Order: sequence, then C-alpha cells, then structure tokens
Amino acid sequence: MSQVSPLSLEQLENTGEFIERHVGPDATERQQMLDSLGLPSLDQLIDDTVPKSIRLSQPLAMEGARTEAETLGYLKQVAGKNQLKRSLIGMGYHETLVPNVILRNVMENPGWYTAYTPYQPEVAQGRLEALITFQQLTMDLTGMDLASASLLDEATAAAEAMALAKRVSKNKKCNLFFVDEQCLPQTIDVVKTRAEAFGFDVMVGSTEQALEQDLFGILLQYPCRDGSLRDDRELIASLHERKAIVCVAADILSLMLLKSPGELGADVVLGSAQRFGVPMGFGGPHAAFFGTRDQYKRSIPGRIIGVSVDSRGNPAMRMAMQTREQHIRREKANSNICTAQVLLANMAAFYAVYHGPEGLKRIANRVHRLTDILARGLKQAGVKVINNSYFDTLSLDLGERQAELVKAACDAGYNLYSGDQGLVSIAMNECCSRSDVEALWTVLLGDDHGLSVEALDSTSTAIPVALQRDDSILSHEVFNRYHSETEMLRYLKRLENKDLSLTHSMIALGSCTMKLNATSEMIPVTWPEFGNMHPFAPQEQTQGYRQMIGELDAMLREITGFDAICMQPNSGAQGEYAGLLAIRKYHESQGQGHRNVCLIPSSAHGTNPASAMMASMRVVVVECDANGNVDVDDLRTKAAELADSLSCLMITYPSTHGVYEEEIIEICNIVHQHGGQVYMDGANLNAQVGISKPGLIGADVSHMNLHKTFAIPHGGGGPGMGPIGVKAHLAPFVANHSVVQLEGPNADSGAVSAAPWGSASILTISWAYIRMLGAEGLRASTENAILNANYMAKRLSEHYPVLYTGRNGRVAHECIIDLRPLKAASGISEEDVAKRLMDFGFHAPTMSFPVAGTLMIEPTESESKAELDRFVDAMIAIRGEIAQVEAGTLDADNNMLKQAPHTLADILDDNWDRPYSKQQAAYPLSWVADGKFWPSVNRIDNVYGDRNLHCSCPSMDTYR
Ligand SMILES: *Cc1c(COP(=O)(O)O)cnc(C)c1O
Repeated sequence: MSQVSPLSLEQLENTGEFIERHVGPDATERQQMLDSLGLPSLDQLIDDTVPKSIRLSQPLAMEGARTEAETLGYLKQVAGKNQLKRSLIGMGYHETLVPNVILRNVMENPGWYTAYTPYQPEVAQGRLEALITFQQLTMDLTGMDLASASLLDEATAAAEAMALAKRVSKNKKCNLFFVDEQCLPQTIDVVKTRAEAFGFDVMVGSTEQALEQDLFGILLQYPCRDGSLRDDRELIASLHERKAIVCVAADILSLMLLKSPGELGADVVLGSAQRFGVPMGFGGPHAAFFGTRDQYKRSIPGRIIGVSVDSRGNPAMRMAMQTREQHIRREKANSNICTAQVLLANMAAFYAVYHGPEGLKRIANRVHRLTDILARGLKQAGVKVINNSYFDTLSLDLGERQAELVKAACDAGYNLYSGDQGLVSIAMNECCSRSDVEALWTVLLGDDHGLSVEALDSTSTAIPVALQRDDSILSHEVFNRYHSETEMLRYLKRLENKDLSLTHSMIALGSCTMKLNATSEMIPVTWPEFGNMHPFAPQEQTQGYRQMIGELDAMLREITGFDAICMQPNSGAQGEYAGLLAIRKYHESQGQGHRNVCLIPSSAHGTNPASAMMASMRVVVVECDANGNVDVDDLRTKAAELADSLSCLMITYPSTHGVYEEEIIEICNIVHQHGGQVYMDGANLNAQVGISKPGLIGADVSHMNLHKTFAIPHGGGGPGMGPIGVKAHLAPFVANHSVVQLEGPNADSGAVSAAPWGSASILTISWAYIRMLGAEGLRASTENAILNANYMAKRLSEHYPVLYTGRNGRVAHECIIDLRPLKAASGISEEDVAKRLMDFGFHAPTMSFPVAGTLMIEPTESESKAELDRFVDAMIAIRGEIAQVEAGTLDADNNMLKQAPHTLADILDDNWDRPYSKQQAAYPLSWVADGKFWPSVNRIDNVYGDRNLHCSCPSMDTYR
C-alpha cells in the first residue's frame, strides 16, 4: 500500500514553478514578514502602499507562466529559425573564437556577470584589474596616453569623441564636425543624430573637402570602410594646423599590424573590441574602447580605472576622476554614461591576456594573409579589386553580376556586404581558413578557377611599409604570463575571487535592482544561434531573432502600457537620451521646436540632467518637499512660468526616495496642460510591473532598464539594455537605423546605437524572465519586492531613521536610511558603514544617492527572509558599534568602523595594536566565519588616486 498521496491533475501539469525559484521568501517566510508588519495579507500591504489611482484594474493580458524547461525548449525552436552563415560582412562586426576558458569561466559565470559597477573597490579588485588591463590594451594598440574602461559601442564612442573634441578644441567659435565618408555608415548615423541634438553641424565628405573647412573636429576610419589603408599623417598635421581635434575609429585587430593612430598624430582613438573574443550577438553587447591624450583627461567620457593606495600603502585600484561623471556633475558632466560594457571589456582584455602579443599578431597575420591570397587570386582571374592596400577587407567591383554573385555566396554559406553600384566587400576574420578562400574563389570565379592557395601565397605587399607597426606592444607581464589554459584558468579565478557578487550575498543597491539572474535566463545568450549572428545579416536569416524581439516587444508594451517600443538604447541613460530626442522631434513636428526646458526634480539620478544636456535642453530643477516628494506647487509655478518653452518633465516613479507619490497623476497633468511631455525614468519599474503601468499613470515615454527590472545581470558595470516605450504620438520619432531599416519610426529618424536592436543577444534574458513568470508571477515579484523592502525598513527603523515613507508609513520597493544624525553624534560616516559591511560579507547599499549621507536599500523580491535578516543583523551590529563610539567607549578614529574593511593582512599582522579584537574585526557575527569573504585590499585612498592619476597596469613589482 502506497503512503504517497495521489497528485491532482493540476499538479501533474506543474513541473516546477519558476516563481518559487525567483522569489526569495516562501509562504512561511512571507507570513512571518507580514506578521511583523502587522498585516493580514500581501494584498493589504499593496493596498496600503500603492495609491489606488494608479492601480491596474485588470491583470496583465499575457500568457501564463512557463517552466524553465518549456521556456528553453520553445526558445531553442525560435533560435532554430536563425540561419547561421559565415559572416564576411565586416562593417565593424566580425566572427571571433571566444576562448572556451573565457566563455565558461567569465561569460557564463555568475561570479563575473552578477557583480555591480565597482563603486566599492575594496571588494571589486578583480574586475578593476581586468578593466585596467583593458585600458592598457587600448593604450598599447591605439598609441594613446590614456584610456577609459569601455563605452557602449563604436558608434556612440565616436559621438563621445565628437563631444570631447568640442570641449577641448581651441577652435571655439567653430561649430562644424567633419566625418570622413570612409567611416562606417552606422557610425555616421549615430554621430549625425548626436550632432543634431547638440546643435553641431556635420559634414560628410572626402578628406580633401575636410581641408577646405573651418572645423573643430573630424572623424576618420582606420582602415577605411572600403578596406584601404591610408597614411593620414600629413592630413592630420594639416588638420592640427587648423586647430581641429582628430578622432580615429580604428579596427582593433588591424592595430596589431598597423602603425597606431596615435603615432600618426590622432588625438582620440576609439573602436569596438568585439572581435577580441566577444560574440557578434546580432549587434551586441560589446565594449567600445576609447583612448586620448593625457592633456584631455578631464574631458574623457565614461569610467576610468586608476591605481591608488590602500591604508596599508599597497597599490589598489578604483574608479578615478569621478567628478567628471554624471552622478556628480549632472548637466555639466562629460557624458551621461552610467552602465557601460564592463563584462565585455573584461572578456576582450582576457582574450588579449590569453593570446598575448605573439598570439594576437599571429591571428592578425593569418587574417591578413588569407585576405591577401584571396585578393591575388581574384585579381589574377580579372576581378576588379578596388583597394590596393588592405588589412582584412576587399572591395570588389562586380558590376552587373553583383546580385547574382552575392546570392551565390549566400547559397554557398557566406554573407558578403553589398554596396552601391556593383560594390561587394568581403571582410576576413579569425574564423576563416584556406578552405574559405577556395570556396570564395569558386563562388566568384566558378568551379574551374584553377587557383591554388599554395601557388598564390607569398609575402604581402598590401600593407604599405610606412604603415607597418614596429613598436613593441603588450609587453606588460599580464599579457605574457597566462598562455597555458591552466595558468589562464587560475588567473581568471584569482581575479574572480577578489570580487563580491550575487554568488556571495545580497547586493541591496537601491535603484539598481540586483535581483536573481536565473541560470535558465542566461543559457540562451551563448547559444551559437544567438551569439554568431551578424547585425546586418539578411533579414530572412534572422527570423528567430525577429520573432524573439517581436514577442519581447509585445510583452513590454503590455507591461508598460505604451504603444511602441524602441529596442535600440544600450543602457538606461541611452534610453533617456533617445526618449528626449523623440520628444524634441515631436515638438518640432507640431511647430513647437522652440520648446527646450526640461524640468527635473532635485532627487533625480545624474543621468537625467546629463541626458537632457545631450538633447540641448535647458535643465530647470524642481524642488522636493520635506517628505521627499516633488513639490507640486513649485512644479505648478515653474510649468506655468515656462509654459511657452516647456519641453518635458523627467520623473522617476516610484521616486528615487522610495515612495509612491500620491500626486503623480496630477504631476503628469500639470505638465501636459502646459504643453510638455512626461519622460518617466523607468529605473524603478520593479515597483510597478503588474500593479501599475507608466503609460497608465500619464507618461509619454519611459525607458526600461532591462538589467534592473527584467533580470539582465549587471555584468560588473554592464552590459545593460534601456529600450524605451512610447505613446503612439511619439512612435514615429524614435530611432531608426541607416543600415537596417526598422518598421515604425520615420525613415529619417537617426540612430542612437550602432546596432538596430542594440545589444540584441541579451534580450533573450528578459524574454525568458517574462515568459517564466507570466502575468501572475510578474505581479507577485513586484509585490514581494515591496514586502521585502517594507520588512527591512521596519526592522531597520528600530535602529536607524528611515528617511521617507509614503502613505501608512510604508515604503515602495526600497528605503533610505539616514546616517547624518549618527555622523553628527559619532563622526562615523555613511562610508564607514559601507566599508564595515564588507567585514560582514556584504556589499554596501547605494551611498549618498539621492540624498547625501544616506544609504538606499533595495532588497528585491529574490532575497529570502533569512538573507534579509542577515543583512539587518549586520546593520544592527554596526549600529551597536557606532553607539560605542558615541558613548566614548570606542576611540573615535581607531575603531572597527574607521579601519574597515579588514583584510587577512590585518589579522595576520603581528603588530596588531587595535583597541578591538581580531575576532571583532573579521568575524563580527557568528555566521560571518562560514564562507568568510575577505576584501583583498584595505580602504582605498580616493584623494591620492585622483591627485596621482595612474591608469595603466601597475608593474608586477608593485605587488611584490
Ligand atoms: C540606473 C539608473 C539610471 C541609469 O541607467 P543605466 O542603465 O545605468 O544607464 C537612471 N536613473 C535611475 C533612477 C537609475 O537608477
């Protein structure tokens, strides 16, 4: 007789609900949390917390949840509709071999991909070291003094170069930026969009024409788009005489063989690091590199990693010169970059570490040699090869046979690039072999071409001697030590082990939504069907991608209440910029092009004013009241006063103060009444999904940080995706693309990213997230996020003041605790608390945003009650330590808070002379010892790092 109770039919269907994996607390924990809040049910909490006026009356109209297995099975089918061909299209995207040791141990490894931007450097030395290696790689290859730690893609990096040129050019009055017609079309597109927004003039033409202009800067491509190699030394010198800043977009692999643009005289060198071991992914994500002269260091966009020292005097890395950046300088920042491409920059750096200078040269030489043999054969057979010099790209004039031959190539499994007037180009890559050369001859010349690779192989003369590289590069030890797989694996692990990620503990970063990045969501990203697709592959080969993107589009529209989605922006900040441009164009279409005022509450994220500046808007700050809400009277007054010039309001909802403002609908109405549009910063969408919608509340446009609410991991500081949703009236004005025309937006809407759907390959993550949760699961996630936040707020409020609460004393999905009174009483700062948390194995919450001297805590729905309790217990223990400082029983300066974080070096130091024990330092609570995470360096000196800027790899000796 069986003791097992029979399953219901429903249970037979249910092979494991993902929601139970995604949401941390189980039913018992949930009940305990509700009890502690004195609430009968989760529904009651939501009723108490979320204003009725913004609540959905209907559940989301979406399919039900699918299991992990079903979801992957279905997506595999969709992926199968992508036809993979060998991609020789080039245009900035190339096939590459991702070294498997990097694929498995970095790209597919949550230890790397779940970390956050290294704002807490003591627990981020691994990726900081990887990023400084990326900077060193950039500096070596470009020949520049200084490099940044990644931008979003080559095209936006070019636009950033233009903005830098304008900032630093001595030709102040001039407004013209010139773009060489040999630049990649998508780059020209993005630069034009950015220039128009800034109010710069752009002229695209030949370099001869450039010399006839009065210009503040110029963009060149190296090698040229047609593949040819041009020695631009004299051109650059003449441009310098005209006080122009010379920016060069360069191909990273070619730089292994070619003279660096720096040596040719360039002021800025940028490009994509994609072909250094990062899959094409139908457009991304990839890292862009950016190098410039030392004298322009204050003008450089994005993050820069620098070497400083820690409190033991040891070298330690951190993000340098943050005062250039949006989170501090707001509308005066150099760029709006927040999320960048850290994971992909790391991968490119590791690719260089893995291969080393000799290996990389070999790869570059192979690619070049195959190109050369291909060219010789074609020329011998009478094909017109347009470019005499080349690295890896040949431009052919196939005349009337263009279409026929491109189709034959496609049938044979090769995608070539078709241009105007019979032009076809072929770009060879790392994955090519001699059999590809033979196959291409057969396609282009017929079966009886009679050519042989052996016969045609001889020394290449296709790289002019004057352009051949002869300096020594990548000589730093890091590029020369880890070439065996064993060494490489241990190197990667050694770095990984220095970094705190979601694999260790909760990362309660307010506004960043560090939720679960489920393994099932991540798996499809590295499927070849998604990874190996060129963004400009013919439409019929990309049906799987188009279906997946279309489905995500529909789901996001339903979730947000918008009419159309633009998938192009590669980050939230980029979405802001794209959304503001749509608003601007909409106003222009209404004959209201003069509207340029952007109202921004004082509590806004720094990217908001920085993006408004990029759209040439005038930022007017709206005050917040004592409760952290937008001061509606101030808004009303300003909107009325500025009614003639009001373009829009940018507002975050729920507010960055962690509350649902009751008056949000009224706020949107006020703006609309005065002819403005409402941009909703969607960073906090995790508190809306399934219970409200931006489109319902009154927003006209909003970005969705897919790397916050929709489960894309933060990658240690990127990648991300920031698609925007818009109401119908804005839909014609969102970004289009010059290479791949999109349906919906006007044909003349410029691009904001290099690729038509941004970083398309990681859209699979959000797609899977939504499918696996379904309508109910999405709502349950939001509700649990609110429950977790309120539970933590409640427990913490007994020890720290919670700064803002909404109705019924509740917070939304995050809360701010105020450390200013404690600092006044004890001298212990928010930073001391942040560093002390590391001793407990935690990453600090968001520090001093949106209010200085505070910590903003966002637990997300994915953390269990047990984990929330651990965090709160750590905070309570820290409060006890602060109390001892207040009481004078602990020295005000020499205490475990000021000395935090503690390293093994501290504990092993024979001269331990602190007024607290080693136990208190390193194992402050009983559970800390189990799986203790040791910060690898002591507290880092920020001031020293900025005063002594050093952004290249420190020599190995410094560590010894
Ligand atoms: C994260 C965030 C942004 C910027 O998004 P990125 O994707 O990092 O560019 C903007 N606003 C708020 C409130 C945010 O939290």
